[in-house]
Amino acid sequence: MADSKKIENVIIVGGGPAGYTAALYTARANLEPLVFEGFQWGGQLQNTTEVENYPGYPDGIMGPEMMGQFRAQAERFGTRFVTDDVDRVELSDGGVQRVFLGDKEHLARTVILAMGAEPRRLGIPGEMELGGSGVSTCGVCDGAFFKDRKVLVIGGGDSAMEDAIFVSKFARELTVVNRRDEFRASKIMQGRAAEQPNIEFKTPFVPEEFVGGEDGKLDHVRLRNVETGESEDFAAEGAFVAIGHIPKSEIVADQIETDDDGYIVTQPGSTRTNLAGVFAVGDVVDRTYRQAVTAAGTGCMGALDAEWFLRDTPPSPEAHWMKGGEPTEIAPKPA
Ligand code: NAP
Repeated sequence: MADSKKIENVIIVGGGPAGYTAALYTARANLEPLVFEGFQWGGQLQNTTEVENYPGYPDGIMGPEMMGQFRAQAERFGTRFVTDDVDRVELSDGGVQRVFLGDKEHLARTVILAMGAEPRRLGIPGEMELGGSGVSTCGVCDGAFFKDRKVLVIGGGDSAMEDAIFVSKFARELTVVNRRDEFRASKIMQGRAAEQPNIEFKTPFVPEEFVGGEDGKLDHVRLRNVETGESEDFAAEGAFVAIGHIPKSEIVADQIETDDDGYIVTQPGSTRTNLAGVFAVGDVVDRTYRQAVTAAGTGCMGALDAEWFLRDTPPSPEAHWMKGGEPTEIAPKPA
C-alpha cells in the first residue's frame, strides 16, 4: 500500500490499456509506479466481449481477461495498485503533484493522467442490458460479428459515419438513424457512407428501447419519429450507438488545458500537457483513434516522457520540506 508521506516518482491515474502500459514501462524503469486504477478498473474493455483486433492474440481474447493480463504484467515489475477512484488532484507546474483519496493525500513528482473516456449513452431501456448481445458502442471493435446481419447505426456525426462505413463491409443491410434530417458529420464522410449500396438513412428518428428476443439477443429497436411522435418496431440484430464520447477529465478540467469538449490537450508528438511533470495518455486525450492498441501506445509514450522528465529535472525545492516541517522521502531518481 502507498505511504502518503513519500513523494512518489510517478502516480498514474486510470486502469485501462493506457494506464497499465504506462505502469508497465515505468515499473520496468524502476520508478515504482503507484496506480490509482479506479473501482471499475479495466476501462471500456471491461464492458467488451471478444477482442480480435489487438495484435498478439490470433485467437482473440475477452476484454476483461486482456485487462487482467495487462494488470498482471505491470504488477510483475512492482507496480502498486489502489483500486479506488481519485477524488481530486492539485496539479503543479513542475512542483509536487498531489492526488487525493478522500482526505488522504498522495504526493508525486510526476502524474500520468489516463482516465479514459466513456461512450455517450442514449439512456434508454435495453441499452445496457443488451450490451454485448447486439448493442455495441464500437463499430470497429464489433462490426465483424455482424456478418450478413441487419443492423442499425445511431447518430449523425463522423463517428456514426465511420462506424457505418466499417460495419457495412460485414452487414447485409445497415440503416443509419439520426434524430434530425441534417447531419452533423462532415460532407465527405456522409458522402462516403451514402455511396455504400447497403447503407440507408432514416430520419428524424430516435431510439426509445432496445428489445431482446427469446435468445436474449437484440431482436428489434423501437424508434420514434421525432416530428409525428409515432413509434415503430425496427427489426435489427445489431445496433451501434455512435453519438459521441465523454472524456473523463472532470477531476483535472479546471487545472489543466483541455479543449471545448474536455479532452486534455497535449503537445504534438508527446504526452506533455501545459503543466511540467503532468502527462496525459489514452482516450482522455484522443478523440480520433480510441483503440486499445493506440491507448497502450500512448501509455508507453507517457511513461518515457515521465522518465525523461525525472532524469532531467532536479526535484522541486518544495519537495524538501513538508507541511509542519516533517522530512519527506523522495523516491530515488532513475539512473
Ligand atoms: P459528434 O460530432 O458530437 O456527433 C454526435 C452525433 O450524435 C450527432 O449527430 C448528434 O445529434 C447525435 N446525438 C447526440 N446525442 C444524441 C442522443 N441522445 N440521441 C440521438 N442522437 C444523439 O460526435 P462524433 O461523431 O463522435 O465526433 C466527435 C468529433 O470527432 C468530431 O469533431 C468529429 O469530426 C471527430 N471524428 C472524426 C472522424 C474522422 O474524421 N474520421 C471520425 C470520428 C470522429 P445532433 O447533431 O442533433 O446533436
